[in-house]
Amino acid sequence: MNVREEVVDLVGQIKRQLRDSQEIGLDAPFLSTARLDYLNRGGPQLDGAPSAEDFSCNSLKELEDFVSNCDRCKLSRERKNIVFGEGRADARLVFVGEAPGMEEDVTGRPFVGQAGRLLTDIIKAMGLTRDEVYICNVVKCHPPHNRDPEAEEIGTCLPFLKAQISLIKPRIICTLGRISAQSLLDKGFKITRDRGEWHSFMGIPLMPTYHPAYLLRYAQAKRQVWEDVQEIMLKLGLKDPRGLRNQNRD
Ligand code: URA
Repeated sequence: MNVREEVVDLVGQIKRQLRDSQEIGLDAPFLSTARLDYLNRGGPQLDGAPSAEDFSCNSLKELEDFVSNCDRCKLSRERKNIVFGEGRADARLVFVGEAPGMEEDVTGRPFVGQAGRLLTDIIKAMGLTRDEVYICNVVKCHPPHNRDPEAEEIGTCLPFLKAQISLIKPRIICTLGRISAQSLLDKGFKITRDRGEWHSFMGIPLMPTYHPAYLLRYAQAKRQVWEDVQEIMLKLGLKDPRGLRNQNRD
């Protein structure tokens, strides 16, 4: 490696380390000023933002059409496509990620990149297909350079997610990663401490787990995600993973 390559490699390592520190909830020194401000203000501020009822949409299709020309925040300036979400309109399980990545921006579909392929594998391991669940994000437009969505962007987009949830009426919501859990729950949410426990959003049981992108870097965390996913399977009555484990031992 020449010096330039070493520097590029080092910067890449630092960036990944910072992102991972944030993912597991390490606080202040790793947070942007915007994010700290957001957390100090108590999470998403919905005052002044349109509420789900204001959209008066009776179907996901109507809502998607309503959102299709959105320019409510600055993410609209650089996005290629709005990534509204996809899956069954009456899915029992909704996965909520953070924001579209580059491949999602290009295709207009959620979770189609490397992390998305891992999510697809997780869904298959649950005995389901992508068509049987619903997959979306808190923020519908790709933040440039894959940066975290800002508080204002989350606050502006969250009513659309709420409207999606109120139309789908899922039995369970599964948030992927720290940012989606903090956006739907509260600022005090810590992924290492609070994942794997049942929470509630709009009266619907919510299971927060790690983001698949995190699993690509920390394969060890797959075991915890599988435990979280088994809780969801139990609640959905898909099968009884604990029972199966016990049977295998007999
Ligand atoms: N990461 C997310 O949080 N959402 C996507 O759609 C893709 C990657």
